[in-house]
Amino acid sequence: MSDIISSDTVIVGGGITGLYTCYKLKQLKGVNHTVSLFEATGRFGGRIETVEMGGFLAEYGPMRFEKLAQPLLMDLISELGLETKPFVPYTAANDPDSLFDITFDESGGKRSGSKLTTLELLKLGILRLLNASGGDMDDPNDPRHRAWWSTLDEEYYSYVRNKASYNGKYLYEIGFWNALSLVLSHRAVNKIIHYGTFYHLIHFNPNAAEWVIFWLRGLHPDDELVGIKQGTESLVQELVRKLDSRLEPSVSLHLNHRLTALFSQPDGRVLLEFKTDNKTDNITDNITDNITDNITDNITDNITDNKNDNVTDNKTDNVTDNVTDNKNDNKTDNKNDNRTDNNVVKVLAKHVVLALPRCPLMQLRPQLPEHIGEMVDYVIPIPLVKCFFVNENPWWNEFTPPQTRASSTPAREIHYTFRKDGNCKRGIVMVYCDPPSMLYWTPFVRQQGHLKAELNLDKRLVGGYLQYLRSSPDNTDVKKIEAEAELISCFGIRDWSREPFEAGCHIWKAGVRAEEAIKKLTAFSLQGSLLSNKNIHICGEAYSDFQGFIEGGLRTALQVIKHIT
Ligand SMILES: Cc1cc2nc3c(=O)[nH]c(=O)nc-3n(C[C@H](O)[C@H](O)[C@H](O)COP(=O)(O)OP(=O)(O)OC[C@H]3O[C@@H](n4cnc5c(N)ncnc54)[C@H](O)[C@@H]3O)c2cc1C
Repeated sequence: MSDIISSDTVIVGGGITGLYTCYKLKQLKGVNHTVSLFEATGRFGGRIETVEMGGFLAEYGPMRFEKLAQPLLMDLISELGLETKPFVPYTAANDPDSLFDITFDESGGKRSGSKLTTLELLKLGILRLLNASGGDMDDPNDPRHRAWWSTLDEEYYSYVRNKASYNGKYLYEIGFWNALSLVLSHRAVNKIIHYGTFYHLIHFNPNAAEWVIFWLRGLHPDDELVGIKQGTESLVQELVRKLDSRLEPSVSLHLNHRLTALFSQPDGRVLLEFKTDNKTDNITDNITDNITDNITDNITDNITDNKNDNVTDNKTDNVTDNVTDNKNDNKTDNKNDNRTDNNVVKVLAKHVVLALPRCPLMQLRPQLPEHIGEMVDYVIPIPLVKCFFVNENPWWNEFTPPQTRASSTPAREIHYTFRKDGNCKRGIVMVYCDPPSMLYWTPFVRQQGHLKAELNLDKRLVGGYLQYLRSSPDNTDVKKIEAEAELISCFGIRDWSREPFEAGCHIWKAGVRAEEAIKKLTAFSLQGSLLSNKNIHICGEAYSDFQGFIEGGLRTALQVIKHIT
């Protein structure tokens, strides 16, 4: 076994959870504990991707964070020397089409009341389900609800997760759609489903307890949304810098290593097999350059050649072969002796952290114990798509609120940014979709692999955008539409439904007790393991008690670290 890398802990997955686990583990254990991290693709960050487009930072992945609800993330942001900036609160469209008169509906058409946005409607549904605020249960804007809502904390969320019930049924036992249908008319539920409330996920009928908690957190009156000034991907960049093997000799980071198998060994360790390709091994030294290059390349691409295929731009071609034996001297050992036939890399580890979402874990399912394999399938993958368009003479301005035209566009969310320098004005619009609206946009993705945002590739994407978001959609004059298309200097799309992600975020299925599942996934033994040491650990957003958010991944990372001896 001399040609096999050996490491105390192997982390699989170079998204924010894998990197954070590595970072925190090093802080805790110091230099005598060796850690190797393997990432399947050619870049770190996973579902985090920031691209500079026309001077704007386009967040193709996460963009807004709750200051109170995401304390681990806030600590990380400041520890890494990054800054936050205000982000607009959650709002819903309020055009006549998307408003709903609940009084009219509930009185069988006899009375009319004030009209509610879908977000207010959703809030009302949640208030009625929990029936705890003491406010008027026909008015989601009663100030007593707000006072009650602001007392809510993790302890209350734990109550909702495990004990809250309606009509004798625990909320975790039923789907959110079913739960809302107990307290709102079908027409009201339908309105929420079809017009959306930033998240249309009710289609999937997620676990009611978990989805109630999602919104209790999201609409907490005392919380505040922020973005990261330097871009969300700077989190990844800074973490990778800190884990540079020149600073952390007991850490090694590897790109382009996809875990394909894992086996228990008689001595209790685990043997992992990674598929790699010849040219693209990588270590930390090359990573930060890669991230910066990606951003710079994208800008240059935009300026110089609208037709460039940014996916073929592979900065790892010239990288020397640096896969190493991670025995405290990994930065100098370039022997390549861990590579066996057919580009398979073998690694032995005392602990294995699988910081992976559902899709790759389902592929590994045959190798996991049956009960763990079942739990991997306890979450619903929610596909998300984001598109950005830079306009050199935008029809919107700095006062255009988010969600303008959202109800008349295939989108769940639309955000407008505007900038004026002297006489020159420029804007960027973000179209953010989940099913079904995303299906309007996915045919415009051209790349096969699609492992990063596709920029300026398929002009039909601009056509798809102008169909709804041109300055005057009623004006069908072809020449005017063509002139407006000329104003789009840069455009891009990222479809997160592709492998290895299959989803932008995940949500527990109805019937699952998330807390129990998380506990079991945090530490277990492999099938056939002779010793019963629980040395396999699943973590990440997908299997957390704060799904859909970075905080979820960070929370699971800290739980997993507790089990690493
Ligand atoms: C469009 C969008 C919007 C979002 N908005 C927000 C937001 O506003 N706020 C917020 O807090 N969160 C948001 N999120 C969620 C946030 O991005 C995720 O919670 C977080 O990035 C997940 O990190 P992770 O490390 O758990 O998983 P991932 O980022 O999925 O990382 C998993 C890594 O494992 C790698 N991998 C997969 N298979 C293998 C294998 N076999 N071997 C080795 N490596 C493998 C993947 O390539 C990936 O790098 C958003 C996500 C998306 C997509």
